[in-house]
Amino acid sequence: MKVTEQMIEAAEAMVARERDCSIALIQAELAAEGEDVCVECDEPISAARKAALPSAERCIDCQKHYERTMRVA
Ligand SMILES: [Zn+2]
Repeated sequence: MKVTEQMIEAAEAMVARERDCSIALIQAELAAEGEDVCVECDEPISAARKAALPSAERCIDCQKHYERTMRVA
């Protein structure tokens, strides 16, 4: 079988797609295992906040808002 330029391009495109896919996968895994992302706004929770309160699920802004709404309710 003769390797044509189109085949090479197709193969390169496939590799590029797979690379994008694995990057997305790695990012998803990091997000899932780290869980250092605010459940409200998806912003990262600061390391200092995590250190002070490892169970923190919200960033400081959302936590303030959450506590305010809890107090009102
Ligand atoms: Zn937040």
